[in-house]
Amino acid sequence: MDATGTPDAPAPPAMIRLTGVAKTYPDGTRAVQDLDLEVRAGELVCLVGPSGCGKSTTLKMVNRLIEPTSGTIEVDGDDVTHADPVALRRSIGYVIQQVGLFPHRTVEANVMTVPRMLGRGLRRGRRADADRARELLELVGLDPAVHAGRYPHELSGGQRQRVGVARALAADPPVLLMDEPFGAVDPVVRLRLQDEFLRLQRDLGKTVLLVTHDIDEAVRLGDRVAVFGAGGRLAQYATPADLLAHPADDFVADFVGSTSGLRRLRVTTVDPALLEPLDGVRASDLGAAVDVGATLEEALAAMLRDDRPMIGIRDGVRFLGVLTPTGVHRTLRASLRTD
Ligand code: ADP
Repeated sequence: MDATGTPDAPAPPAMIRLTGVAKTYPDGTRAVQDLDLEVRAGELVCLVGPSGCGKSTTLKMVNRLIEPTSGTIEVDGDDVTHADPVALRRSIGYVIQQVGLFPHRTVEANVMTVPRMLGRGLRRGRRADADRARELLELVGLDPAVHAGRYPHELSGGQRQRVGVARALAADPPVLLMDEPFGAVDPVVRLRLQDEFLRLQRDLGKTVLLVTHDIDEAVRLGDRVAVFGAGGRLAQYATPADLLAHPADDFVADFVGSTSGLRRLRVTTVDPALLEPLDGVRASDLGAAVDVGATLEEALAAMLRDDRPMIGIRDGVRFLGVLTPTGVHRTLRASLRTD
């Protein structure tokens, strides 16, 4: 069992490792202090915390936009302080809130900026280059026939953000750094972009370090969440479920907030061991069934939608049992237990 309480299979190797990292700006501001943080290959880790607690500084030290005052930072086993900063930045995708697209270049040219700089576009030829741009736009949910030839000002905020993600993926870097990537769009678009990004990440399996000030976004997206406190102190590093169930101190408890119970519904899945049998249940009491992989929030939402006091849980075509509101409570309680 590791520090996050995850038993079994050996963890993938670390792709990003910060050891004893500190950053003090020339004016004396201590932005980050004594930070140890490891991100495994293929993991999506969110850095979250109030404004000014050192999240962006941490992110920018990984691709050397900012130099640490002390400590070591390794990416894929190499100490980044010995890497050529330009080559490093090209091998690490970087997505920022304001996107930073070139206004006078088309969407296609924007997406292919890095591969063209690296000379890969030219080697492959213009046709292959355009094909790759089209593929990337489709990947992020934009229709290339409509959008490839447009300029950034002809896109919505959400579309610009998607182009930013496509551009970061263009050189196929193993690591993506994202600084408030969904911060500049309205809440509905934001949720959609988060969902799309999660789907994309499931397919691509990049190692992602993502900064957000929004705890909901962090627990929604992160495999693990690092909560930063004042003065760039790492207050807790845990899975979303563990973080919400066991805040390490008052600061974290306060930051995850009084609605953390609702958030926990979102990150806790139905437990087949805590279902009730179907025997004696009247068909009229039973709502539509949901899959055993569903979260408690999805199960509860289905119960409310069908206006029924219980919901069936299935595993494919197999019926596993019945979940009631009491069962939801028991499942949440059980997920609190440490073992
Ligand atoms: P966050 O991303 O969590 O909002 P930052 O990493 O941007 O926090 O900033 C951490 C602290 O460092 C803040 O107090 C901020 O004012 C300070 N800071 C950031 N950049 C600089 C800089 N270039 N010079 C001096 N202080 C800075």
